[in-house]
Amino acid sequence: MALVVHKYGGTSMGSVERIQNVAKRVAKWVKAGHQVVVVPSAMSGETNRLLGLAKDINPDAGDMSPRELDAIASTGEQVSVGLLSIALQAIGQDAVSYAGWQVPIKTNSAFTKARIESIDDKRIRADLEAGRVVIITGFQGVDVNNNITTLGRGGSDTSAVAVAAAIKADECLIYTDVDGVYTTDPRVEPNARRLDKVTFEEMLEMASLGSKILQIRSVEFAGKYRVKTRVLSSLTPHDLDINVEAHSGTLITFEEDETMEQAIISGIAFSRDEAKITLMQVPDTPGVAFKILGPIAKANIDVDMIIQNQSTNGTTDFSFTVGRGELKKAMEVLETEVKPAVGAQQVIGDANVCKVSAVGIGMRSHVGVASLMFETLAKSGVNIQMISTSEIKISVVIDDKYLELAVRELHKVFDLEQEAQVESV
Ligand code: ASP
Ligand code: MG
Repeated sequence: MALVVHKYGGTSMGSVERIQNVAKRVAKWVKAGHQVVVVPSAMSGETNRLLGLAKDINPDAGDMSPRELDAIASTGEQVSVGLLSIALQAIGQDAVSYAGWQVPIKTNSAFTKARIESIDDKRIRADLEAGRVVIITGFQGVDVNNNITTLGRGGSDTSAVAVAAAIKADECLIYTDVDGVYTTDPRVEPNARRLDKVTFEEMLEMASLGSKILQIRSVEFAGKYRVKTRVLSSLTPHDLDINVEAHSGTLITFEEDETMEQAIISGIAFSRDEAKITLMQVPDTPGVAFKILGPIAKANIDVDMIIQNQSTNGTTDFSFTVGRGELKKAMEVLETEVKPAVGAQQVIGDANVCKVSAVGIGMRSHVGVASLMFETLAKSGVNIQMISTSEIKISVVIDDKYLELAVRELHKVFDLEQEAQVESV
């Protein structure tokens, strides 16, 4: 017997029939002797609909009280848990639903992006012992003043992994509308391959590099509390053989547990949500980086890659990237505040860039990965505008129009479409 957490996303909860299918799938696990806690999302589209209602009343998002937005958005999940509980009871499986505050799942008070601080497992355990399926709202919690909070969009993943950590579940199964983690997005490279396993470190890089499969904070949780987490399809038949289902999808593992020879590169991640900003001919004096990026940070704009060139004649070009949606705001800050303060000649914003990254823990023990990447891009005529690296990742910023080409060529050169890669570079 195992203790497992199942997480179902909005698509899986999208209609009455689908909720009934989730119930049948969960009941199958209980019949096989497992204890199951379920963390569902709101029905697909529901969170957007709810927030849309608020926007209809007040179109200025900045004006709206985040506390009230959370009061509204959290209701989607509350409907889901109740419906799923009723669906389980209707097929003879005892079940009980809980909202975040009833568990309680305690968070800080950062409305619309709260962080989980603790989860009480007493009630959950008592219900499991009594043979019930426990269904807990994703996405929401309660703060120290009994205000309802939400964890940010996509937050149900984080709720599920956090609940799994709190009850020391044997595994957290994230049922979703893709059947696992792929070497790259199959819409860009049809030869992309599903990974049976990916290490938590690689998953963290992929999540932060634009892979939308899991909310990044859920991956951080999985790493911190060593929660065995599996991403698998919710689109398989609900009566699929449980032994097949339990081993399907992609398991997020920990490097120390790996005995097999690791692939050098596990995946090619990419993000179109990038923009590059360059300040031309900035006088190269101490404090320049701070004078440029300080006001950007104050405006709450996240900066990713940064490059400062060698100075010639006492001036330098300074470039960095921001999310594409923040380009306009960043340019305003730079033009009005920064440019006059640092004495830059010109500020250029470019929204036609993207970021392509190769990720793999095998990089730690192999040389030549970066040069192979750069050689491949050069052969394809792709100009690299910026480079950044970590221990297990190399990212480049390139012209947007080369995204597909770059992803496919890199996918090929790192042998990602083949079954196993054991030879060394
Ligand atoms: N319902 C929330 C959202 O749409 C949380 C989630 O689905 O993970 O963002
Ligand atoms: Mg999601």
